Amino acid sequence: MQKTCSKCGEAALQWTTERQEYPIDVLRCGACGHAMLVEDWTAPVRPIGPESCTNCGDLYQDGKCRNCGLSREENVDVHNELRDMVDPTLTHLQAARVAHRAGRLLMALKLSTSAMVLNEDNQRSVARAHRIWLLREAQEGAAALAEAQTWVERSSSPSVLAWITVGQQLHASGRGGEAMEAYTYAIDRNPDQQVLRARRAELMFEMGRVGQAHTEVCEMLEAPSDDQTMALVVQVAEQLAAFYTAQERKSELLLLLQSAGSFRDRSAVLLAHQALHSARDGEAADARRYLKRARRLTPELPLYAQVDAAIKAIKSSWWRW
Ligand SMILES: [Zn+2]
Ligand SMILES: [Zn+2]
Repeated sequence: MQKTCSKCGEAALQWTTERQEYPIDVLRCGACGHAMLVEDWTAPVRPIGPESCTNCGDLYQDGKCRNCGLSREENVDVHNELRDMVDPTLTHLQAARVAHRAGRLLMALKLSTSAMVLNEDNQRSVARAHRIWLLREAQEGAAALAEAQTWVERSSSPSVLAWITVGQQLHASGRGGEAMEAYTYAIDRNPDQQVLRARRAELMFEMGRVGQAHTEVCEMLEAPSDDQTMALVVQVAEQLAAFYTAQERKSELLLLLQSAGSFRDRSAVLLAHQALHSARDGEAADARRYLKRARRLTPELPLYAQVDAAIKAIKSSWWRW
């Protein structure tokens, strides 16, 4: 592929997804705006069922798509060719991820749709979740939500991934209350799936239900589950800590840090909040110790300046909350 703009000669080419009636991928020059390449393939936007054409999302009739005319076999060939354009050694889902990272959303959408239809490596659900995210990114939010809801409604026992996807799509559609209901419903049916609780806690905090988020996060910190879930829980704990520090809600901050236990010592952000708390309490030695530990994990954080200032203030005056 050409590396420089054919119009101005600059080497600032970048893939973007633009909208006409449907999304299209465009390779544009960042310097002069010239469109070097346009990939206006049909985007499979409609929900995909067993009778849907992989290429355009319409239905097969007598073995051929009634809209674009492709048969199932031709669809496999077309999408193999698309994959070959990315890298012939990859699966369709792997190629979709590569295309996504390169900014070629539409190409990624077609490849993840194909991976889902073919149930490549038994990864249908993963491909479907990826497809739904790509629809959202391509500004097809209504289609993304519709497909996520269809996924949950048509499964007799929807997977945790299906629930997370529908929760995220409701959330992204500005329907946080319904997202919370979906998570709660899913948690009741999958009580051992802590990741659903973590997602719900994240949403609670964002929706301003701080007390609920606090209770959930503290419970989860005290009875840790898998690493990926705990990483998300710690993220929410860090947001809570920042909120408490800003609001000078000292007792809640302390309770949170206590529940965090060893997780506090692995998070530079939580350690910095602990340091700031100690400094505001006049405990300079403790504050310096926590700050040192935080810096060992993450050398620079905007919060450190605040801690340094609070430590300095101890020396010059009698400083309290
Ligand atoms: Zn140019
Ligand atoms: Zn078609």
